[in-house]
Amino acid sequence: MNNPGIVLTSEGVVVIDPGGTVQSGEMVLRVIKKLIDEPVVAVFNTHVHGDHWLGNQAIRNAYPTVPIYAHANTIQRIANGSGDEWVKLMLDSTKGKSAGTRVVSADNIIKNADKIIIGDTSFDIMHYGIAHTDTDIMIAVNGNEALFTGDNLFNGRLARTAEGHIKRTIEACEKAVEIKPGIIIPGHGQSGGMDMFNSSLDILRILYKTVQQQYEQEISDFEMKPAVVKALDKYKHWETFDELIGKTISQAYLEIEQADF
Ligand SMILES: [Zn+2]
Repeated sequence: MNNPGIVLTSEGVVVIDPGGTVQSGEMVLRVIKKLIDEPVVAVFNTHVHGDHWLGNQAIRNAYPTVPIYAHANTIQRIANGSGDEWVKLMLDSTKGKSAGTRVVSADNIIKNADKIIIGDTSFDIMHYGIAHTDTDIMIAVNGNEALFTGDNLFNGRLARTAEGHIKRTIEACEKAVEIKPGIIIPGHGQSGGMDMFNSSLDILRILYKTVQQQYEQEISDFEMKPAVVKALDKYKHWETFDELIGKTISQAYLEIEQADF
């Protein structure tokens, strides 16, 4: 489901978001073995959603002492039961194929502006408060060689924003790319450069702007859907568009109303 990232450093391999099941974590390890005969020396989890980190289990099985980094809010939410919910969710959505997957949480806290150095490679951590969730980190590799956005950016599907804040997600993404990254890896969908970034982020920018315009004309949220869908015409084939567009409009409306209040 998600985009597992593999970064080769002079000390070994760093994995960013090893996937949503123990099986996908094992698959990531098989891919690494094909690329290089080096151990995994660190793991980063971009946020609390289990489709990104339940693969930690496979990495820990193979490398029992590997540090797993995440924001404190991710670690706390998993401890409070979010991990168990994700195990069940993945079991349902894979029709039982993720059986055996269990919660192996991150255990090393990272925060905004931290710099983790591993061998010849640096990992700059960005956390701008609530965005896709209140647990997100984005990771810049070697200054600006690569940027992992986690689920603050989706390519090819409309983001599930219910646990976050649409406007702040847009702002967090725009702030992160000020480093001018060479390659940008979204949480889901194909990686790319600034063109991919702008077209992927535009689905939220256009949605928010159109809802705002409609709000200013005193049109209520349930009446503005046709105008918003029309403005987003080139995205209507994106995965989850039909499922989430109504909810996302309502959320944008509430955000705008709250800001106006
Ligand atoms: Zn997510």
